[in-house]
Amino acid sequence: MTDNALESGPRKRIALVAHDNKKKDLLEWALFNRDLLVKHDLFATGTTGALIEKTLDTTVVKLQSGPLGGDQQIGAKIAEGTIDFVIFFWDPLEPQPHDPDVKALLRIAVVWNVPVACNRASADFMISSPLMDSPYERALPDYEGYRDRLKTTGA
Ligand code: PGA
Repeated sequence: MTDNALESGPRKRIALVAHDNKKKDLLEWALFNRDLLVKHDLFATGTTGALIEKTLDTTVVKLQSGPLGGDQQIGAKIAEGTIDFVIFFWDPLEPQPHDPDVKALLRIAVVWNVPVACNRASADFMISSPLMDSPYERALPDYEGYRDRLKTTGA
């Protein structure tokens, strides 16, 4: 890690995704935590977003449905630094048509040190953290060496 950091304010940008067998779980969790969630900016893959919008009666930025590119859109937002954390209830018991995208989303979140909750218990811990309501400096790994890796070889 270096001194590089991205600061998020008290209003966090939260991405929500649930596979079909996990949507009920996510909706129950979201409803239970409605008062906390509506204080933040919510983003979601298409179907998850429509369900959350209806269940919480709040605005959600809806991206494409996951299998149609929604997971990749969230990954792109993470790379741009515009998502602060991810609630991703993926299904461990069923293969998905977009498994490579699922893996890519989980990977890019780690690349950029973005917190990810993949089940209800993790989501409970994250949403109840005192850091949710305060500014937070997310340390960014130093990728300069990686970016510069070919500059000295003349390649
Ligand atoms: P969905 O996508 O919210 O559009 O169902 C979720 C996913 O499968 O990644």
